[in-house]
Amino acid sequence: MQNHEIADRLDAFAALLELGDANPYTARAYRRAAETIRDAPAAVADLVSSGRVRELRGIGPGIEARLRELVETGEIAELAELEGELAPDLVGLGRYLGLSAKRSVELGRVLGVRTADELRAAAADGRLRAVPGIGPKTEARLLEALAREGEPRPRPGLLLNRARELVGGIAAALGGEAAGDVRRWRDSCEELAVVCAAADPRPVLARFADLPQIVAVLEQDERRVLGVTVDGVPVELVVAEPERFGTALVRATGSQAYVAALEPLPAAPDEQAVYRALEIPWCPPELREEAFRTSPPALVDLADIRGDLHCHTTWSDGRASVEDMARSAQQRGYEYLAICDHTPAVGAVRGLSADDVRRQGEEIAAANEALAPFRVLRGIECDILPDGSLDLPDDTLAELDWVQASVHGGQRMPRRELTKRVEEALRNPYVRCLSHPKGRIINRRPENALDLTRVFELALEQRVALEVNGLPPRLDLSGEHVRDAIRAGVEIVCSTDAHSTRGLENMVLSVMTARRGWATPAHVLNTRPLRSLLDRPRATT
Ligand SMILES: [Zn+2]
Ligand SMILES: [Zn+2]
Repeated sequence: MQNHEIADRLDAFAALLELGDANPYTARAYRRAAETIRDAPAAVADLVSSGRVRELRGIGPGIEARLRELVETGEIAELAELEGELAPDLVGLGRYLGLSAKRSVELGRVLGVRTADELRAAAADGRLRAVPGIGPKTEARLLEALAREGEPRPRPGLLLNRARELVGGIAAALGGEAAGDVRRWRDSCEELAVVCAAADPRPVLARFADLPQIVAVLEQDERRVLGVTVDGVPVELVVAEPERFGTALVRATGSQAYVAALEPLPAAPDEQAVYRALEIPWCPPELREEAFRTSPPALVDLADIRGDLHCHTTWSDGRASVEDMARSAQQRGYEYLAICDHTPAVGAVRGLSADDVRRQGEEIAAANEALAPFRVLRGIECDILPDGSLDLPDDTLAELDWVQASVHGGQRMPRRELTKRVEEALRNPYVRCLSHPKGRIINRRPENALDLTRVFELALEQRVALEVNGLPPRLDLSGEHVRDAIRAGVEIVCSTDAHSTRGLENMVLSVMTARRGWATPAHVLNTRPLRSLLDRPRATT
């Protein structure tokens, strides 16, 4: 059993414990253990067998017992029991209808229904109103939602990393291709789709309905089915005739506007053949947002990236040491890594004082000795204070190789004040890069009011780069803003803002977001060797 499989089972256990009103701390402990196991460098199954698994952080005797059961029998009996009792099918449909998981379980208990179909039948019989707390209004709303089931409706999208895991897993299980928003690397994915090729669609449709990810089927045609996950997320499967697979893939990849401009699509077995028949060059999916028929530019590639310029360690809120982060970056084939921990004003977590920065410098020097010729850069993610000054004195910043400036608190400042605050920081001669400029947290906090046009002008003048932050809830700059930055002549940096060694994997999300903004390697600073990156003059003054 592989680490990620073990972690998935623990996550499922945690989710069901939450639904079942278990002690919230227990559920959280299982989630944390799942996270540790996903990050673990060794095979956890082996650690369990050799009795060493408790050496991992957060694994106590209780979780160890579950792990032993899972590794030895392939299952956790209590998890299987909970899955039966709590009817994930019902919970999935409930979430899709806008009910919390707890509410769905309650509904099931009161109505004595266990499946999505039984819930539909109960609703049709007018029994919903028997449930305490459901009045005629809520009943009408639920009936209406049930009638509209399967119709697309606005709902918060999934974060790109979660959507990729979900859709990628389904595509792999069915031998198909991920399509929809995931294939275009949208920052928030709403249209989740998988395309398969088969002359006879029935076995594929049946396998889809049986997948552990799919808890209920909402809609089924001859070659298309819409399922819903336990989180209430709709996923579409298209089973194309093999000679039309390419056509179906282009169509399911979207966007609607892009596809509409290509119609009528020729029938073709693969995507390349579709484009040949249309007599236009193949278009990378991440550029398919608007009508586009000409040659795409040579976009930046993950392999072009020579180093990561923003990550955290245990000195602030990261989970790995300087040396562990650096080794992991080296193993990824990078030439350099900048350690950019927080400064005190960040508030919620520990930040580094000027003294800490010097002490960390000694640790970084040791890592450089151990890992040469790999280079660990002394960096900082320095808070921009409300008045635009920086959270560390200039003489400290002057010692560092790489200074990221960041707004954390005060994202809701009015446009003029916020822009002035950031402008002031960009004028500091030691600042090299502005982190997550628009400050959004996808689904939780909208973009701030920062005037990017003004910031681009000043960044260009001061030779400060703008970050494309690869944290899945950030992806900031967004693809659209990258495109504006590039048009303005501003350089960008693709960074992960990793807080663990596994976090360094998010570079692909940053690079794909930059590609959505039409970035080529020349636009991205960290495609360059370290020397040319550090030697470049800062401000023109
Ligand atoms: Zn930050
Ligand atoms: Zn950071």
